[in-house]
Amino acid sequence: MKLVFLGPPGAGKGTQAKLIAKQRSWAHISTGDMLRAAVKAGTPLGLQAKTIMDRGELIPDDLMCAVVADRLGAADCGQGFILDGFPRTRVQADRLDETLAKLKMTLDRCVYFHIDTEVLVARMTGRLTCRSCGANFHVTAIPPKVAGICDACGGELFQRDDDREETVRNRLQVYQRSTAELIDFYAGKGNLLRVDADGQVEEVAARLAAGLGDS
Ligand code: AMP
Repeated sequence: MKLVFLGPPGAGKGTQAKLIAKQRSWAHISTGDMLRAAVKAGTPLGLQAKTIMDRGELIPDDLMCAVVADRLGAADCGQGFILDGFPRTRVQADRLDETLAKLKMTLDRCVYFHIDTEVLVARMTGRLTCRSCGANFHVTAIPPKVAGICDACGGELFQRDDDREETVRNRLQVYQRSTAELIDFYAGKGNLLRVDADGQVEEVAARLAAGLGDS
């Protein structure tokens, strides 16, 4: 299946995308993860992205669309993919349609994860990320077995710069301003699947799997 995961930052798109992509052998394309890897590696893209990401603003559309078009052309996307965190603007959504048409691909569904704003703020400001493998934990909801240490790889856990409260609130405003209109855009195409993103990871995963069916 070829899917777009849409929803406010912190709704759990990334966690759900990782789980289901692994189960079904689909490519997981997270533009946020790609940008963070570029920042870590100190590439030209990373250097340009870092300050914008720390403010919670969006990377320019042209840059983002080029990165995604390149990634979608890779062989592992043929089986199916999840675009997680892209598109985030109407321009990106239109460009995505063009890119997919060139690749002779069509999107099956756009999954919209919806959740209350204050639940999101609590989730994001408590989030801890592993410096080595990128796994996510949460100070209260998913605490690591040993404080400050990743259960998966033993790496150091830290709070992302863009998970600080001020930045979180800005990211939510940016989402409302630039991205929320895409819910109607995909609903208009008739392929929007709404998933309630409040609850434990397993509960949301079960709702998602039920909504997508077995295909
Ligand atoms: P995420 O992990 O998806 O919340 O992304 C983290 C940050 O990366 C965002 O706050 C943006 O600064 C940037 N970013 C990720 N995806 C996009 C996108 N599709 N368009 C513009 N900026 C993006």
